Amino acid sequence: MNTINVDPAELAKFSDLAHRWWDVNSEFKPLHQINPLRLGWIETFGKLQGLQVLDVGCGGGILSDAMARAGAHVTGIDLATKSLKVAQLHALETQTPNITYREVSAEAMAVEQPARFDVVTCMEMLEHVPDPASVVKACATLLKPGGRVFFSTLNRNPKSFLFAILGAEYVLNLLPKGTHAYDKFIRPSELAAFCREANLNTLAMRGLQYNPLTQRYWLDANTSVNYMLATQREA
Ligand code: SAH
Repeated sequence: MNTINVDPAELAKFSDLAHRWWDVNSEFKPLHQINPLRLGWIETFGKLQGLQVLDVGCGGGILSDAMARAGAHVTGIDLATKSLKVAQLHALETQTPNITYREVSAEAMAVEQPARFDVVTCMEMLEHVPDPASVVKACATLLKPGGRVFFSTLNRNPKSFLFAILGAEYVLNLLPKGTHAYDKFIRPSELAAFCREANLNTLAMRGLQYNPLTQRYWLDANTSVNYMLATQREA
């Protein structure tokens, strides 16, 4: 496949906001708020300390940075140049150890460095690409046998439309209007099928909830809107 799996309009959305990645009160506030939850969940499957980790669609590096601070050797990749510059600058300013950012697609990285990583994370990214199955396959190829990959995305059903688009973008103004396209949302069964196809076994799934009144997030079994999937490459 020569055509690159990217939607330039999607990259532009994130590039336009790139200077705000590390402003915890910006459009990226939700990512900052959920970050400790997702890092905590990832680490319930094993400590990141000393592991080789790849963060696919890292943006400004919110998760990459936290994983490096947890002791992992992190490579963050994205295709939005500005976001990567912001990520790099942040790492420099805060002297985050063991972190590298690169502008490369997951698919190209998989050709270059197959079986190189202990852990791959790909969070809030699959719903922005034309062919999510291709990214899932690349993530699997990048893993060492027995390695784990963690995905997060948005489910597709009337409730997720109401909460993730109408609620988040139009009522609560948590995200800019047009951030998400409903038809790009991915049902857990669809993501699990992409994973099976890529020889990734599902380990666990968690839903992410938000209460707009208390402005708190938490994890539970309800995967109807935002959810994370933990998978493992066969050993
Ligand atoms: N994973 C980060 C950022 C999520 S925002 C976090 O959860 O904190 C979605 C990111 O996906 C943006 O940085 C955007 O530039 C990136 N992205 C969109 N399409 C991409 C593609 N085809 N390849 C790599 N990154 C992509």
